[in-house]
Amino acid sequence: MGVTRARGATSDTDGTSLTELRRQFASIRAPLANALASRDSGSLSPEDRRALGAMRAALGGDLRASIGAPDASDSGAAPSCVYDPAVIAQGDSGYERLRVRTYACYTSAVQGVQFEGRTLDRLTALEMLSRMNDRDERHRLFLALDTIWRSMNGDDAARSSYRQLVKLSAAQWRANGSPVDEEARVLRIDPGQMEQWLVSVLDAWRSSTPSEMIEPWDWHYQAGAVGRALSDRVPLDDLAALNARYFRDLGADVSALHVHYDLAPRVGKTPVAFTDFGDRPHLVNGTWQPGEPWVFATYRVGGLDNLYELLHETGHAVHIAAIHQRPAFLDWPDNDAFTEGLGDVAALEAYEPRWQMHYLGDSVPTAMGLRARYAGVVLDIAWALFEVRMNRDPSADPNRIWGDITSRYLHITPHPELSWWAMRGQLIDSPGYMANYAIGAIIIADIRARARELHGDFTTGDSTWYAFMSDRIYRFGLARSSADVITDFLGRPISPNAILADMRRMRGAR
Ligand SMILES: [Zn+2]
Repeated sequence: MGVTRARGATSDTDGTSLTELRRQFASIRAPLANALASRDSGSLSPEDRRALGAMRAALGGDLRASIGAPDASDSGAAPSCVYDPAVIAQGDSGYERLRVRTYACYTSAVQGVQFEGRTLDRLTALEMLSRMNDRDERHRLFLALDTIWRSMNGDDAARSSYRQLVKLSAAQWRANGSPVDEEARVLRIDPGQMEQWLVSVLDAWRSSTPSEMIEPWDWHYQAGAVGRALSDRVPLDDLAALNARYFRDLGADVSALHVHYDLAPRVGKTPVAFTDFGDRPHLVNGTWQPGEPWVFATYRVGGLDNLYELLHETGHAVHIAAIHQRPAFLDWPDNDAFTEGLGDVAALEAYEPRWQMHYLGDSVPTAMGLRARYAGVVLDIAWALFEVRMNRDPSADPNRIWGDITSRYLHITPHPELSWWAMRGQLIDSPGYMANYAIGAIIIADIRARARELHGDFTTGDSTWYAFMSDRIYRFGLARSSADVITDFLGRPISPNAILADMRRMRGAR
C-alpha cells in the first residue's frame, strides 16, 4: 500500500489532539481556499497554470474541508446489514446508499472472523492459511471466512447486495464508459487490449504451473511455501536491519533519507501497511533535503513475507524522498497503478535466489520464489477479470464466473456454493479498481526489465541505482504525467511482454 491516505494517520503522536489538529487545519485551509479560488489562471504561464490546477485539485481531494472529520465508519455503531429492498432501485442515490452500506457491513465483517474461540481480522486469517500445515484446519479456517463473503453476497441469491450493486454499476459503465478502460486510456494502453492482457497473464500462470487442481483453502498455503522455507532466516529483530542493508546497497540509505518507521503493534492501529509524507523534501541553501517519509506497518513476527512488505513500503519511502519539485508538484504521481508499482521495483528481488543467498544466507529455487511472487498478482488479476465480466453481464451468477476463471487459469477446484471471491473491499467500494493492481504489475515488470537493460543488475545491490532511478523516475511527482514518465523511460508504450517473460521462468519447476 502507499497511495491510500489512511484515516487516522495523523494521530496525536506529538501530544496535539485530533480535535485541535482539525481546528488548525480549518483555520489554515479557509484563507488558502479563498486565495486559490480568486486567482485568474488565464494570466499565468503554462507551468504556473498547471501548478494552480494541482493546488486546486489537492484542495478538493486530500485537503478537502471534511478531511479528518469523523465519518460513519468511526462512529462505532454497527451498520444494519439486513436486506432492505427499499435501498435498491432508486437510480444513482440508491446505488450510493447500497454501496456505502454494503461496504460498512464488509469492513465490520473483516474484523470479526470467528475461528475456534478467537476473533481474527481478514489479513491475519489469510496469513494463517499460508502457514497451517494441517489441511483440515485450513479447510475449517477458510470456511470461517464465510461471514465476510456473506456481507457482500448473502447466499448468492439474485437479490444479494453485490448482485444488486453490479447491476447498477454495469449501467453506469455502459453509460459513461468503464473505469478500467479509462485507466488504460490514461496510460496510453488500448482499452480494447486490456481484457486480453489480463487473460494473457492468467494464461502464463496456467501454462507455467502444475496442472493438478487444488482446493481454494490450499492456495495461500502453496503460495506460502517460500515464506515457510525461509522463515527462520528472517527473525523479527532482523527485519529493520535487513531492509536498511539492502536499500543502503542500492544507494538509498534510509537513515540519511530520514525515513521514519512505526512498526510496533499498538491497540487500534490499522492492520494495513502504508507509507506517506511526513515533512516533504525541501530546498535548504540550494540543496534538496529529503523530508521525512513515514512507514507504518505492524510486525509481531519476522518472516520473508513481512520483510517483503517492509521492502515494498521502503520502496515508497525512498521514492517520495526523491521527489524534487516546486511545492505544487511535490506529491505522489497522478496514477495509482504506477505509484503502487514503484513500491515493488526493488522489493521484488527478495523472491530471487541470488538475493536470498546474499541477504539471508539460504535460498529456494527460482520457480518456487516466482510462484510466491505471482500468486498474489494473478489472484488480483482474476478479480479484475471477474469485475470486467460481471459488469458486462450483471445477471450472471458471480460464484460461477469466479469458479470459471479460477479453475481455468489458477487450477483451483470450483465451488459454486461458496462466494469466496467476496473478500476484497474494492469490489464494493471502488468497482474496477482491481484492474489497477493488474496494470501496476504489468508496468512494474516492464520498468524493472528496462532498468536492468539501461543500468544493469541490482539484485545484490548497486550503489548508483538510487541516483539513476531518482533521476529517471522518482523525482517528478506531479510535474509530469505518469504516462509521460513511464513511456519516456521505456522508450515505447507499456507492454505485457516483460511480465509474461518473467512468469515463464516458472516453467520446469518442481
Ligand atoms: Zn504499496
